[in-house]
Amino acid sequence: MARDAVAEIRERIDVVDLVQSYVPSLKKTGRNYKGLCPFHQEKTPSFIVFPDSQNFHCFGCGKGGDVFTFFMLVENIEFRDALRDLARRAGVELEIGAPPQPEHDAHRHRLIEVNELAATFFHHVLTNSSHGAAGRQVISDRGVSPGMIERFKLGFAPDGWDGLLNFLASRDVSGELAADAGLAQVRDNGGFYDRFRHRLMFPISDREGNTIGFGGRALGDAMPKYLNSPQTAIFDKSTIVYALDLAREPIRKASEVVIVEGYMDVIAAHQFGYENVVASMGTALTEYQVQAVKRGADRIVLALDSDAAGQMATLRGIETMRDSLDGELLPTPDAAGIIRFERKLKTEIAVVQLPSGKDPDELIRRAPQTWPEIVATARPFMDFTIDTLTSSVDLSNARQKSEIVTKIAPLLQQIPDRIVQGHYVTMLARRLGLDDRLVLAEVRKAGINQRPSAQRAGVSPEAVQKVARRSTEDYVVALFLRHPGLTSDVLNRIPIEEVTDVRNRELIRVLRDEDLSDLTPEQIVIGLDDELADHAERLLNTLEGRPEQFPGQIHKESEEMLMKLGKERFTFLMRQLDITLKQALVDNDRDALNAVKVQIGQLAERHRQYYPPPSPYFLDSRSPVS
Ligand SMILES: [Zn+2]
Repeated sequence: MARDAVAEIRERIDVVDLVQSYVPSLKKTGRNYKGLCPFHQEKTPSFIVFPDSQNFHCFGCGKGGDVFTFFMLVENIEFRDALRDLARRAGVELEIGAPPQPEHDAHRHRLIEVNELAATFFHHVLTNSSHGAAGRQVISDRGVSPGMIERFKLGFAPDGWDGLLNFLASRDVSGELAADAGLAQVRDNGGFYDRFRHRLMFPISDREGNTIGFGGRALGDAMPKYLNSPQTAIFDKSTIVYALDLAREPIRKASEVVIVEGYMDVIAAHQFGYENVVASMGTALTEYQVQAVKRGADRIVLALDSDAAGQMATLRGIETMRDSLDGELLPTPDAAGIIRFERKLKTEIAVVQLPSGKDPDELIRRAPQTWPEIVATARPFMDFTIDTLTSSVDLSNARQKSEIVTKIAPLLQQIPDRIVQGHYVTMLARRLGLDDRLVLAEVRKAGINQRPSAQRAGVSPEAVQKVARRSTEDYVVALFLRHPGLTSDVLNRIPIEEVTDVRNRELIRVLRDEDLSDLTPEQIVIGLDDELADHAERLLNTLEGRPEQFPGQIHKESEEMLMKLGKERFTFLMRQLDITLKQALVDNDRDALNAVKVQIGQLAERHRQYYPPPSPYFLDSRSPVS
């Protein structure tokens, strides 16, 4: 079964961030966020986003759901397309290509075309134009060979405001499209100007070799030293690995990939025959990037300058301003992050610490033959971390020793292999002159503190409750799927707007809309899109092993589950309104107070539905179900 891309996307895209980009009025109130609903006209905000459960609800129009539902509604697109767009945004690779959506793909292709036109233009300026003289000087000063200029399609952006724009205009590319492609900026008074000026240009490709953006290196002291393409529909730094398109085969051959920091480092390595070298785009290494490079590689080697490596060994994600970047603040992945990549992606990450102040470009050009020796000194990340953290410890200081153990224990606890873990426990104990058992006890303790995950700090009761709610939802949809014929009338009554998981919504739609009476559940699943099919299979599996039931029981159970679902939702929303009401009273906000009263009135209707006044004469099927 494919991994759960929907869950991964949910993990990476915060519903608050996504909603905020469409609802500028969204503001934090208490635990939640509130703003004007994008789906209906209103003056007083009744649209609420719940960060704990990562969903939203509008008390005005009743729309609600998860991050996918929001995106589908606001962009007016279908699940399949939402999945693809959000996957791209989140840097999650979908394993099975969703069927292409012509319109969307056409726009992407156009943006790639425009970037490739720009690459041709910059390359021409560098190699053939008088405007490229300054660029040619730098290239020759740095010792870049003509072969590398071609291989990396290097270019030069001339000084001026519209060199590229004029060229693009001659090819029927509008300023607007150039801006969409990340190549032009909008002027304050309208119109456009070139984003890249007087810079050495490094085209950046996706893994298929399509040009999707650029890195531009300033000549002289201009700032920022490196300027990349902005985020566009085709360019997302966190998902890109520089030169991966060129390095794929060499990585496979060497079973090893070396990650460096700069474009020039990659070019120098390739020039001297070390073609399994890529760069991380100057950003903190992301899980997506690790996943992309590890194909075909048994080992990932990070060749970082000593500062960067040192920061990586620290145990907090440090926000740091780095020179070779866009001048942005960037979180360096910390030790816990790297260990997590290793564990999750089942890959070994090793670190080479380069001599202070030296980058691979310099090292390789000065003595190319020593590069393999340098790479061979890479140490497993955990060795490197223990070394770095213990190197400055004063062994006569008990408190310092204790601090180090407390820091490293949670990392050691993450190592799945007991023998490997034991190896590092011993290593750390020796370094600090402690008994192994003492260190091991701390590692165990770190494990206990981390379990169960729901009890960890930061996970709210609501989030725990969300799991419970989703399970009722999953359960009722599983029943629909297993017994479509027996549950069809219940299926038609489920309030689809209140189903939280977008996949459950989609399944309900499929079951409602299509004539599936002749099909078994398995045949229904086969007809679904991959992501939905995986989810449907999981649902069906949860029903495995249940005792046989009579049709009447199944029908009754689905009724009961529907009722339970509605009650859970009711309680959840009621609690929310209660909080809003209290806040409005504290703020003495009359408008908010009136709005919340109306909303409570609407919910009261539902209260009667779920908790009908008991009949004095007989019990009926509406008797309360817990
Ligand atoms: Zn609304």
